[in-house]
Amino acid sequence: MLTIDLRSDTVTKPSQNMREVMYKAPVGDDVLNEDPSIHQLQEFAASLFGMEDALFCSSGTQTNQIAIACHTRPGDDVICSSLSHIYLYEGGGIALNSGCSVSMVEGNNGKLTASMVQQLIQPDDIHKPRTTLVSLEDTVNKGGGTCYELSDIKEIHALCKQKNLALHCDGARLFNAILAKNHDPKEYASYFDSISICLSKGLGAPVGSLLLGKKAFIQEAKRKRKVFGGGMRQAGIIAAGALYALEHNRARLQEDHIRAKEIETLLQKMPWCKTVVPVETNIVIWQLSTDIHSSTAVAKLKESNIHCFPFGEDKIRFVTHLDYTHQHHQRLLDVLPTILL
Ligand SMILES: *Cc1c(COP(=O)(O)O)cnc(C)c1O
Repeated sequence: MLTIDLRSDTVTKPSQNMREVMYKAPVGDDVLNEDPSIHQLQEFAASLFGMEDALFCSSGTQTNQIAIACHTRPGDDVICSSLSHIYLYEGGGIALNSGCSVSMVEGNNGKLTASMVQQLIQPDDIHKPRTTLVSLEDTVNKGGGTCYELSDIKEIHALCKQKNLALHCDGARLFNAILAKNHDPKEYASYFDSISICLSKGLGAPVGSLLLGKKAFIQEAKRKRKVFGGGMRQAGIIAAGALYALEHNRARLQEDHIRAKEIETLLQKMPWCKTVVPVETNIVIWQLSTDIHSSTAVAKLKESNIHCFPFGEDKIRFVTHLDYTHQHHQRLLDVLPTILL
């Protein structure tokens, strides 16, 4: 029976064409700055966003943690949403790697506004930690894949400039946001000091994330990457897959968004679904209307070969992606209405 895997957009596997590009990739020792495939990827990504430089890293957690470490000193305070990945899902890395505290508010499904940020900035008082960094997530994973309006980002950027705070973007799924909001990547990037993007999610590369920023920032990031144990040698082999993903798989994210929207529409008609977080990209977070625990519902869905993750006690997350094809989608639309939860 067809397995429908909606657990995450990280489950995608490299295609035949991607593997061929990887197989043939020219490589060198990247710690010595000698890997042509990594250079090519970094230059392509930097130019796409009009950023001065980029750094290839092993994961999105690593690019975020490097960025936080570069923008702060121990004892500083970081502003983010309480739904943010950097706070919830990076093993306490803000404290562990950078020695920083956090000031948080949930925001609108994880999206902050300038006035929320303003309220979280610590006063200039010796009792308080120093606020030095604001981090936004776009799209917000825990916010159901919602994305920022450029006008909100502009206001937060202006506030950060005025208060001399660095602004970081956890753009693990930034290409989904760019597509959904029709942003110009260069304009978008101009409001941030650093951006992290994942290549191993919807874009379908097996491994890798990129950190983007100014030349001096990336130079500093390279030091942090080394001390975090992330200096890689002939990693051009994976960088080539990542470049292939960037070149070939950005536009098709639209298909994931359309399918997610169709799933939302269907879920709204199911008696066992109470609410769906409005779908904007490829993430569908929905709430059960029955009192069964989400993990019980997930186990039931699995019996019908639908694989997904619980998200809290009464919520479930579906994520559409490159390997969730038309065939999988049709099957899901047929099967969901037959399920009793
Ligand atoms: C996946 C993800 C990351 C990074 O995850 P890795 O598994 O470390 O690559 C960062 N932020 C968000 C919002 C994510 O969804």
